[in-house]
Amino acid sequence: MPETETSPRDTAWLEERVKLLWENHFSDVPQGYPIVVRFGTRAQRRFGSISGRNGVSLITVNMLYALPDVPVYVVDETLAHELAHYAHGFGSGLPRLYVDPHRGGVVTMELEKRGLGEVHRIAEAWRETHWGNVYGECCDDLVQRRAAKTEATNERWDAFLSRPGGRTQADLEHRLDLLAPRLGYKFDHELPFNVGWLRATTRQVSPSYLLARSRLVELHGLLTDRRVPAAVVDFELAYWLARQAYGTSWKAVHSALCAAKLDSIAEEALQWRKARWPGFRARNHPLR
Ligand SMILES: [Zn+2]
Repeated sequence: MPETETSPRDTAWLEERVKLLWENHFSDVPQGYPIVVRFGTRAQRRFGSISGRNGVSLITVNMLYALPDVPVYVVDETLAHELAHYAHGFGSGLPRLYVDPHRGGVVTMELEKRGLGEVHRIAEAWRETHWGNVYGECCDDLVQRRAAKTEATNERWDAFLSRPGGRTQADLEHRLDLLAPRLGYKFDHELPFNVGWLRATTRQVSPSYLLARSRLVELHGLLTDRRVPAAVVDFELAYWLARQAYGTSWKAVHSALCAAKLDSIAEEALQWRKARWPGFRARNHPLR
Protein backbone atom coordinates (compact mmCIF):
# COMPACT_ATOMS: atom_id res chain seq x y z
CA MET A 1 0.00 0.00 0.00
CA PRO A 2 2.35 2.71 -1.26
CA GLU A 3 0.08 5.64 -0.38
CA THR A 4 0.56 4.97 3.32
CA GLU A 5 4.33 4.98 2.98
CA THR A 6 4.51 8.68 2.19
CA SER A 7 2.47 9.81 5.16
CA PRO A 8 4.14 10.06 8.55
CA ARG A 9 3.25 7.29 10.97
CA ASP A 10 1.22 9.12 13.53
CA THR A 11 -1.95 8.29 15.44
CA ALA A 12 -4.12 9.06 12.41
CA TRP A 13 -2.06 6.63 10.37
CA LEU A 14 -2.51 3.90 13.02
CA GLU A 15 -6.26 4.57 13.08
CA GLU A 16 -6.36 4.13 9.33
CA ARG A 17 -4.51 0.79 9.55
CA VAL A 18 -6.96 -0.46 12.18
CA LYS A 19 -9.91 0.69 10.09
CA LEU A 20 -8.61 -1.15 7.01
CA LEU A 21 -7.93 -4.33 8.99
CA TRP A 22 -11.34 -4.21 10.59
CA GLU A 23 -13.15 -3.70 7.27
CA ASN A 24 -11.21 -6.36 5.41
CA HIS A 25 -10.80 -9.05 8.06
CA PHE A 26 -12.85 -8.45 11.20
CA SER A 27 -16.12 -6.86 10.03
CA ASP A 28 -18.19 -9.81 11.30
CA VAL A 29 -16.94 -9.28 14.88
CA PRO A 30 -19.59 -7.66 17.08
CA GLN A 31 -18.87 -4.12 18.22
CA GLY A 32 -17.61 -4.03 21.81
CA TYR A 33 -15.85 -1.03 23.31
CA PRO A 34 -14.81 1.61 20.80
CA ILE A 35 -11.13 1.19 19.84
CA VAL A 36 -8.50 3.80 20.55
CA VAL A 37 -5.06 3.14 19.07
CA ARG A 38 -1.78 4.80 20.09
CA PHE A 39 1.94 4.43 19.92
CA GLY A 40 3.29 3.25 23.25
CA THR A 41 6.87 3.18 24.46
CA ARG A 42 9.89 1.70 22.74
CA ALA A 43 10.29 -1.89 23.79
CA GLN A 44 12.50 -4.81 22.98
CA ARG A 45 10.00 -7.63 23.13
CA ARG A 46 6.55 -6.13 23.48
CA PHE A 47 5.06 -5.22 20.12
CA GLY A 48 1.51 -4.43 21.09
CA SER A 49 -1.09 -4.66 23.80
CA ILE A 50 -4.81 -4.27 24.29
CA SER A 51 -6.65 -3.33 27.44
CA GLY A 52 -10.23 -2.43 28.18
CA ARG A 53 -10.73 0.42 30.60
CA ASN A 54 -13.60 2.79 31.26
CA GLY A 55 -15.54 1.46 28.32
CA VAL A 56 -12.70 2.02 25.88
CA SER A 57 -10.50 -0.55 24.22
CA LEU A 58 -6.95 0.82 24.11
CA ILE A 59 -4.50 -0.73 21.66
CA THR A 60 -0.90 0.40 21.90
CA VAL A 61 1.92 -0.55 19.57
CA ASN A 62 5.65 -0.28 19.97
CA MET A 63 6.93 3.25 19.30
CA LEU A 64 9.58 1.80 16.99
CA TYR A 65 6.81 0.84 14.58
CA ALA A 66 6.69 4.51 13.63
CA LEU A 67 10.06 4.07 11.89
CA PRO A 68 9.88 3.65 8.12
CA ASP A 69 12.38 0.74 8.42
CA VAL A 70 9.60 -1.40 9.85
CA PRO A 71 7.41 -2.77 7.04
CA VAL A 72 3.73 -1.86 7.18
CA TYR A 73 2.78 -5.54 7.20
CA VAL A 74 4.67 -5.93 10.48
CA VAL A 75 2.61 -3.14 12.04
CA ASP A 76 -0.56 -4.63 10.56
CA GLU A 77 0.25 -8.04 11.94
CA THR A 78 0.58 -6.68 15.47
CA LEU A 79 -2.64 -4.69 15.14
CA ALA A 80 -4.37 -7.82 13.80
CA HIS A 81 -3.02 -9.78 16.78
CA GLU A 82 -4.63 -7.26 19.14
CA LEU A 83 -7.87 -7.31 17.12
CA ALA A 84 -7.93 -11.10 17.51
CA HIS A 85 -7.76 -10.56 21.28
CA TYR A 86 -10.58 -8.05 20.87
CA ALA A 87 -12.71 -10.62 19.03
CA HIS A 88 -11.97 -13.17 21.78
CA GLY A 89 -13.28 -10.82 24.44
CA PHE A 90 -10.00 -9.53 25.85
CA GLY A 91 -9.99 -5.78 26.41
CA SER A 92 -13.13 -5.36 24.36
CA GLY A 93 -16.07 -5.88 26.71
CA LEU A 94 -17.22 -8.75 24.48
CA PRO A 95 -17.88 -12.19 25.97
CA ARG A 96 -14.66 -14.11 26.66
CA LEU A 97 -14.23 -17.07 24.34
CA TYR A 98 -11.11 -18.42 26.03
CA VAL A 99 -9.71 -18.57 29.54
CA ASP A 100 -6.22 -17.53 28.46
CA PRO A 101 -5.54 -15.01 25.66
CA HIS A 102 -2.76 -17.02 24.02
CA ARG A 103 -2.85 -20.63 25.20
CA GLY A 104 -3.44 -23.19 22.50
CA GLY A 105 -2.27 -20.80 19.76
CA VAL A 106 -5.75 -19.27 19.56
CA VAL A 107 -4.51 -15.94 18.19
CA THR A 108 -2.53 -17.54 15.38
CA MET A 109 -5.52 -19.72 14.50
CA GLU A 110 -7.76 -16.68 14.46
CA LEU A 111 -5.40 -14.86 12.10
CA GLU A 112 -5.25 -17.93 9.87
CA LYS A 113 -9.03 -18.14 9.77
CA ARG A 114 -9.28 -14.48 8.78
CA GLY A 115 -6.86 -14.67 5.87
CA LEU A 116 -3.97 -13.17 7.84
CA GLY A 117 -1.88 -16.32 8.24
CA GLU A 118 0.60 -15.30 5.56
CA VAL A 119 0.95 -11.78 6.99
CA HIS A 120 1.63 -13.39 10.36
CA ARG A 121 4.36 -15.61 8.92
CA ILE A 122 6.19 -12.92 6.96
CA ALA A 123 5.98 -10.51 9.90
CA GLU A 124 7.50 -13.13 12.20
CA ALA A 125 10.21 -13.82 9.63
CA TRP A 126 10.98 -10.11 9.31
CA ARG A 127 11.25 -9.66 13.08
CA GLU A 128 13.44 -12.71 13.33
CA THR A 129 15.92 -11.20 10.86
CA HIS A 130 15.68 -7.45 11.38
CA TRP A 131 14.17 -6.56 14.71
CA GLY A 132 17.36 -6.93 16.68
CA ASN A 133 19.11 -4.40 14.43
CA VAL A 134 16.27 -1.90 14.48
CA TYR A 135 16.08 -2.10 18.24
CA GLY A 136 19.84 -2.02 18.67
CA GLU A 137 20.29 1.05 16.48
CA CYS A 138 17.44 3.06 17.93
CA CYS A 139 17.63 2.03 21.50
CA ASP A 140 21.29 2.02 22.26
CA ASP A 141 20.51 4.34 25.16
CA LEU A 142 17.97 1.85 26.57
CA VAL A 143 20.37 -1.06 26.13
CA GLN A 144 23.10 0.84 27.95
CA ARG A 145 20.79 2.00 30.70
CA ARG A 146 19.60 -1.55 31.28
CA ALA A 147 23.15 -2.86 31.44
CA ALA A 148 24.11 -0.13 33.89
CA LYS A 149 21.06 -0.88 36.01
CA THR A 150 21.85 -4.60 36.12
CA GLU A 151 25.38 -3.83 37.20
CA ALA A 152 24.24 -1.45 39.94
CA THR A 153 21.70 -4.04 41.13
CA ASN A 154 24.31 -6.76 41.29
CA GLU A 155 26.71 -4.54 43.20
CA ARG A 156 24.12 -3.69 45.83
CA TRP A 157 23.13 -7.31 46.27
CA ASP A 158 26.76 -8.44 46.36
CA ALA A 159 27.42 -5.96 49.15
CA PHE A 160 24.33 -7.13 51.04
CA LEU A 161 25.03 -10.85 50.64
CA SER A 162 28.63 -10.52 51.77
CA ARG A 163 27.86 -8.64 54.99
CA PRO A 164 29.63 -10.27 57.91
CA GLY A 165 27.47 -12.46 60.11
CA GLY A 166 24.83 -13.19 57.52
CA ARG A 167 23.71 -16.65 56.45
CA THR A 168 25.87 -18.06 53.67
CA GLN A 169 25.54 -20.44 50.78
CA ALA A 170 27.15 -23.11 52.96
CA ASP A 171 24.54 -22.50 55.69
CA LEU A 172 21.79 -23.02 53.16
CA GLU A 173 23.25 -26.26 51.83
CA HIS A 174 23.78 -27.50 55.37
CA ARG A 175 20.13 -26.89 56.30
CA LEU A 176 19.00 -28.65 53.13
CA ASP A 177 21.15 -31.68 53.97
CA LEU A 178 19.66 -31.83 57.47
CA LEU A 179 16.07 -31.45 56.36
CA ALA A 180 16.07 -33.80 53.37
CA PRO A 181 16.29 -37.09 55.34
CA ARG A 182 13.50 -35.94 57.66
CA LEU A 183 11.27 -35.63 54.60
CA GLY A 184 12.08 -39.12 53.38
CA TYR A 185 15.08 -38.46 51.14
CA LYS A 186 17.74 -41.14 51.43
CA PHE A 187 21.15 -39.97 52.62
CA ASP A 188 23.09 -41.01 49.54
CA HIS A 189 20.28 -40.06 47.18
CA GLU A 190 20.55 -37.03 44.91
CA LEU A 191 18.39 -34.16 46.08
CA PRO A 192 15.68 -32.86 43.75
CA PHE A 193 17.19 -29.38 43.57
CA ASN A 194 20.15 -27.21 44.45
CA VAL A 195 19.80 -24.09 46.56
CA GLY A 196 21.02 -20.53 46.31
CA TRP A 197 20.29 -16.96 47.35
CA LEU A 198 18.16 -14.83 45.07
CA ARG A 199 19.19 -11.28 44.17
CA ALA A 200 15.52 -10.42 44.22
CA THR A 201 13.98 -7.47 42.48
CA THR A 202 11.55 -5.45 44.56
CA ARG A 203 8.76 -7.19 42.66
CA GLN A 204 9.88 -10.65 43.69
CA VAL A 205 8.11 -10.76 47.02
CA SER A 206 8.01 -14.49 47.65
CA PRO A 207 10.54 -15.80 50.22
CA SER A 208 11.58 -18.49 47.74
CA TYR A 209 11.20 -19.63 44.17
CA LEU A 210 11.61 -22.94 42.40
CA LEU A 211 13.31 -22.67 39.02
CA ALA A 212 12.11 -26.02 37.78
CA ARG A 213 14.12 -26.08 34.58
CA SER A 214 17.44 -25.50 36.29
CA ARG A 215 16.44 -27.61 39.31
CA LEU A 216 17.20 -24.76 41.65
CA VAL A 217 15.41 -23.32 44.65
CA GLU A 218 16.35 -19.73 45.35
CA LEU A 219 15.66 -18.14 48.70
CA HIS A 220 15.17 -14.40 48.84
CA GLY A 221 18.51 -12.73 49.60
CA LEU A 222 16.98 -10.90 52.57
CA LEU A 223 16.70 -14.26 54.33
CA THR A 224 20.47 -14.17 54.76
CA ASP A 225 19.78 -11.61 57.48
CA ARG A 226 19.80 -13.39 60.84
CA ARG A 227 16.99 -11.20 62.13
CA VAL A 228 14.83 -13.43 59.94
CA PRO A 229 14.06 -16.47 62.14
CA ALA A 230 15.82 -19.70 61.21
CA ALA A 231 12.39 -21.30 61.03
CA VAL A 232 11.64 -19.22 57.93
CA VAL A 233 14.66 -20.59 56.07
CA ASP A 234 13.94 -24.14 57.20
CA PHE A 235 10.31 -23.89 56.24
CA GLU A 236 11.07 -22.64 52.72
CA LEU A 237 13.48 -25.53 52.16
CA ALA A 238 11.19 -28.11 53.75
CA TYR A 239 8.26 -26.83 51.74
CA TRP A 240 9.99 -27.44 48.39
CA LEU A 241 11.38 -30.80 49.53
CA ALA A 242 7.90 -31.93 50.57
CA ARG A 243 6.30 -30.56 47.45
CA GLN A 244 8.73 -32.39 45.18
CA ALA A 245 8.14 -35.68 46.98
CA TYR A 246 4.48 -35.62 47.99
CA GLY A 247 2.63 -33.41 45.50
CA THR A 248 1.83 -29.78 44.96
CA SER A 249 -1.29 -29.37 47.11
CA TRP A 250 -0.88 -27.64 50.47
CA LYS A 251 -2.70 -30.56 52.07
CA ALA A 252 -0.10 -33.03 50.83
CA VAL A 253 2.77 -30.73 51.76
CA HIS A 254 1.37 -29.98 55.19
CA SER A 255 0.79 -33.61 56.12
CA ALA A 256 4.38 -34.40 55.07
CA LEU A 257 5.63 -31.55 57.27
CA CYS A 258 3.54 -32.83 60.18
CA ALA A 259 4.90 -36.35 59.72
CA ALA A 260 8.43 -34.88 59.83
CA LYS A 261 7.49 -32.93 62.97
CA LEU A 262 8.07 -29.69 61.12
CA ASP A 263 4.57 -28.34 61.62
CA SER A 264 5.52 -25.95 64.40
CA ILE A 265 8.32 -24.54 62.24
CA ALA A 266 5.82 -24.13 59.43
CA GLU A 267 3.46 -22.30 61.70
CA GLU A 268 6.15 -19.97 63.02
CA ALA A 269 7.39 -19.25 59.51
CA LEU A 270 3.96 -18.58 58.08
CA GLN A 271 3.12 -16.27 60.93
CA TRP A 272 6.35 -14.34 60.52
CA ARG A 273 5.73 -14.09 56.81
CA LYS A 274 2.26 -12.70 57.36
CA ALA A 275 3.10 -10.28 60.14
CA ARG A 276 6.68 -9.21 59.46
CA TRP A 277 7.87 -10.04 55.95
CA PRO A 278 6.35 -7.08 54.05
CA GLY A 279 7.70 -4.58 56.58
CA PHE A 280 11.07 -6.29 56.70
CA ARG A 281 11.38 -6.09 52.94
CA ALA A 282 10.33 -2.45 52.87
CA ARG A 283 12.96 -1.50 55.46
CA ASN A 284 15.88 -3.68 54.41
CA HIS A 285 15.74 -4.42 50.68
CA PRO A 286 19.08 -3.40 49.13
CA LEU A 287 17.30 -2.12 46.00
CA ARG A 288 14.65 -0.11 47.74
ZN1 LIG B 1 -1.25 -11.16 22.57
